[in-house]
Amino acid sequence: MNIAENLKRIRSRIQNACLKVNRSEEDVTLIAVTKTMDANAVKLAVENGIAHIGENRVQEAERKINQLGNIASWHLIGHLQTNKVKKAAQLFDIIHSVDSLHLAREISSRAIQFNKVMDCLIEVKTSGEESKFGVAPEKATELIKQISILPGVRVKGLMTIGAFLPDPEDVRPCFKMLKTLNEEIASKGIEGVEMKYLSMGMTNDFEVAIEEGANMIRVGRAIFGERNYG
Ligand SMILES: *Cc1c(COP(=O)(O)O)cnc(C)c1O
Repeated sequence: MNIAENLKRIRSRIQNACLKVNRSEEDVTLIAVTKTMDANAVKLAVENGIAHIGENRVQEAERKINQLGNIASWHLIGHLQTNKVKKAAQLFDIIHSVDSLHLAREISSRAIQFNKVMDCLIEVKTSGEESKFGVAPEKATELIKQISILPGVRVKGLMTIGAFLPDPEDVRPCFKMLKTLNEEIASKGIEGVEMKYLSMGMTNDFEVAIEEGANMIRVGRAIFGERNYG
């Protein structure tokens, strides 16, 4: 595995996907997903131009963040349990996986304790019953309205995990749905809400996600190789 080579290849794939739909590659933030990888791998990615790191688990991230500090912007992309919110609020710069008012309230009150306002994305379930987490698309607007009045969180957009299907073309409808929903919510002009980020696309499907408007893609295996959960 060669992180530098892999990143070069991914950047050119991002460039090609952008070209195809007339977008600027600068609009697409590449989040390197480092779950199961050690601090050294994170460091290598940063040395090769990565400015955004995605982690799934609060405790695993804590070790790396304590070791590396703010060498990058830290994104929590995995499901967040209430009992981990305090740590998450302290450690992360943005949380992609907010899918309930209860969780948002907890994040808000913890963030305030750290003198922060936490940037949050609302995780939407775009793949039917397949995924356990995420708010149903038809409930997203109402949830965002409720969250928008919380003082310690700032809604910044939407996130989804597309259906786990081998052909990325089959995931396209998930991404289309998220983009449409994002525009719908943006058009409502909810105070304090900025529907700026669309976090969608992973190793298997990031090109299709970019074609459908992703401006944050979360890529792990294509950068670091297959994960070993041992
Ligand atoms: C693991 C993970 C990714 C990255 O997946 P790859 O297939 O390794 O690119 C992206 N988003 C979330 C939420 C993840 O859990």
